[in-house]
Amino acid sequence: MPDYQLIKKELEGIAVEDNPALVRQKSRDFYWYSPILKAQLDNVTADLVVTPKTEEEVIRTLKVAYAHDVPVTPRGAGTGNYGQAMPLSGGIVLNLAAMNKVKEIHPGRVICEPGIVIAELDRQTKAHSGQELRFHPSTAQTATIGGFIAGGSGGVGSITWGGLRDIGNILRLRVVTMEAKPRVLDLTGWDLTKVSHAYGTNGIITEIEMPLAPAYDWVDVLVGYDNFMDAVRFSDALAKCNGILVKEIAPIAAPIPYEYFARHKPYIRQGQSIVALMIAPHSMDPFLAFTSQQKGEITFRSDKVESMKGIPHAYELAWNHTTLRAIKVDPTITYLQVQYPGPDHVAKVQKMVEIFGDEVPGHLEFIKFDGQIQCSGLPLVRYTSEARLEEIIRIHQDHGCPIFNPHRYTLEEGGMKQTDTVQLAFKKETDPKGLLNPGKMIAWDNPNFDFKAGQNYLFPGLAALM
Ligand code: FAD
Repeated sequence: MPDYQLIKKELEGIAVEDNPALVRQKSRDFYWYSPILKAQLDNVTADLVVTPKTEEEVIRTLKVAYAHDVPVTPRGAGTGNYGQAMPLSGGIVLNLAAMNKVKEIHPGRVICEPGIVIAELDRQTKAHSGQELRFHPSTAQTATIGGFIAGGSGGVGSITWGGLRDIGNILRLRVVTMEAKPRVLDLTGWDLTKVSHAYGTNGIITEIEMPLAPAYDWVDVLVGYDNFMDAVRFSDALAKCNGILVKEIAPIAAPIPYEYFARHKPYIRQGQSIVALMIAPHSMDPFLAFTSQQKGEITFRSDKVESMKGIPHAYELAWNHTTLRAIKVDPTITYLQVQYPGPDHVAKVQKMVEIFGDEVPGHLEFIKFDGQIQCSGLPLVRYTSEARLEEIIRIHQDHGCPIFNPHRYTLEEGGMKQTDTVQLAFKKETDPKGLLNPGKMIAWDNPNFDFKAGQNYLFPGLAALM
């Protein structure tokens, strides 16, 4: 057992918390979305929370942790869904929330610290020069940019820009290694793929350079259809419509909108499926003409309501907020993450709707994937048993719809990130004792791990890229 009194002494001058209740609070994320992870991770807690204010304090903390063989699990805001920020082996939770400065803003890019909340980052770049991040998770109001890069994949804006997996969507990362004398690495190009969506297993991100896009006062719109597949076909047509600038297209099946979207309920009929949208103000006219041609019913417009007070952003109905709103009403609900590879993505969705009906209420996100419009989905699942959940996953896979399993806490089993010899070699170099977020990378723990064991990946292995 490490001597935490001595460690605290060696960290003097840096904010350290050891109150068990507060440490436990900062040892959680949104793992409880999954009944399986909830059972597995409920008792996980760290021993200390350390909150550095500067890169220098990060270096000092890692040096002390390395000397005492203490695990370090980085944390942004703890909104990850797969126990990513949960310290499986105890030790230190490194809370990056106080490293929250914007350093420089230039045409097309911003340089900032990892702990800034994404909405605040957007607020500052917009005020400075009418720019915003290309895309953000639906947790923008709470999540940090560092946590998004290390734990997220894409989100609001991915319809135009794709995701974090696409080269060019992160420009540079500064990363501190976990060694006797921590080094500071500046990563660019393909090297960024080592650290993005790696759950902080191979370095602490201390500085980030992200590309920006023009900012707009996006108009939130809900379009209603009596039939979910009509909502899906409308979404697909809109996503392929070259001239209309949109930031979000999320078809969501009945009964989700009426049953679970409390604040929007006055704008939704029972039994109605909706499409949650964000439209650039100058695209509203053509959008309305297009929607009328597609026989969609505009049920809500943020530019027409008297006040938006108490009404969440449209993007807070989408992505994993759909799941959150459903679980709040019905805690037995869980979810899946599905890819419907194009060009026949609509047919694949239809097949799944036919097979599962209301056992798996549909929720899709239209995105650009490798240059093509297709959709992924976060359908709800009316959970009955682990065996049935596994069966639902297998049926999706058998029909050509890969699953990124949100009921697993390791990188490999989650299926978004491919580990390979290059990824493993980088971890050996940056974290030789395996102290960074231990237990999250099977390839590290099991030297015989077969890199081909997984089936599908958003973030491909580096050997294939370099
Ligand atoms: P945390 O949860 O604190 O951390 C995430 C991972 O990054 C952890 O492994 C942590 O160890 C690591 N980490 C954090 N900071 C650093 C750092 N500085 N250096 C190295 N590693 C670090 N995800 C999406 O991609 N798109 C979405 O639209 C989306 N919607 C969501 C909606 C809801 C309601 C919820 C609960 C989650 C959603 N997520 C989504 C997942 C999650 O919100 C995002 O991944 C989010 O960006 C995580 O940010 P965070 O600051 O909370 O990170």
